[in-house]
Amino acid sequence: MNLSKERIESLRELLAAGPQRIVIVTHTNPDGDAVGSSLAWAEALRGMGHAVTCVVPNKYPYFLDWMEGIGEVVIFKNDTEGRAATAIAAADVIFCLDFNSVSRLEILSDTIAANTAARRVLIDHHLAPDEGFDLSFSHPESSSTCYLVYALVEALFGVEAISRRMAEALYVGMMTDTGNFAFSHLTPELFRAVAVLVERGISIPAIHNNVYNAYTEGRARLFGYAINRKMEIIENGTVAYMSLMENEMRRFQFQQGDSEGFVNYALTIKKMKMSAMFLAHRKFIRVSLRSRGDVDVNLFARRYFNGGGHKNAAGGKSFLTMQETIAHYVKSVREFAEEGFLG
Ligand code: 5GP
Ligand code: MN
Repeated sequence: MNLSKERIESLRELLAAGPQRIVIVTHTNPDGDAVGSSLAWAEALRGMGHAVTCVVPNKYPYFLDWMEGIGEVVIFKNDTEGRAATAIAAADVIFCLDFNSVSRLEILSDTIAANTAARRVLIDHHLAPDEGFDLSFSHPESSSTCYLVYALVEALFGVEAISRRMAEALYVGMMTDTGNFAFSHLTPELFRAVAVLVERGISIPAIHNNVYNAYTEGRARLFGYAINRKMEIIENGTVAYMSLMENEMRRFQFQQGDSEGFVNYALTIKKMKMSAMFLAHRKFIRVSLRSRGDVDVNLFARRYFNGGGHKNAAGGKSFLTMQETIAHYVKSVREFAEEGFLG
């Protein structure tokens, strides 16, 4: 990865100015990459003597509970003591990891925006980042933010600074954001980085088992139900979608993170180019989009669902009813296809 020498030096200067109060924030519904990059970067900064607080807008999925240090991450939504607000108000530097726009912080946005004194640094791999960061490491060519953090730590301190615990956190994000090293941006450098993490003592089977084989029975049954009963296929077998209402989720004791991976499954069908998942929330419907090859769901999410993300994995929101959302999707897919975006 080509990190700008100038920006690395700016970052080095920023961090060299004595111990600072630092907050690391990441996106709503934090995933393995969001949490892994936050924990690893926090450890690197603490190693320099900084006081670091990691804040997430809402709870991370339970299959990340095992990660070392995750207990210290402050969950803004459940933070009755105001620890997050206090740390954010007092922060000298705010690192924004694994998201491209402050709006992705949702309930945490206003609190972050209120501290106008802190310097803001972006470390992210999504397309089209917001402007207005004091320093920005925006690398859409990186398969994960964890790989980006790895490259930053390497550039600043050398790989010797990577502890086993940091290596484990970094591997979680590299593994989850690449769909277990199956998606795009799988460069030789990424695998060299993984080799270094293995040298640090991580156990790939143990991490895999902790993340992917830790679901509840309810999740397994919900998955079966969703594929069997809720998956719809349109556009001559090339586009799929699936929806889950709140009562359906309750029936299977749904927990945050349980629907992770459902949207990808339709893409295991030959010929499938694009897949969507509509998950009902109290106030809106969360939209997840996945695609194969040249089909650009980042563009689709921006055009039709006020969202964004990556070329092959994006998301957005709908404030319509489920029925209207699905109708909007089907119509949008048709338009997208007519304009030649489905190949
Ligand atoms: P997921 O479907 O896993 O929630 O999200 C897939 C990708 O799309 C992630 O990289 C995520 O950051 C991005 N994404 C999800 N929801 C939104 C959204 O509402 N707005 C934007 N800009 N990106 C989103
Ligand atoms: Mn990511």
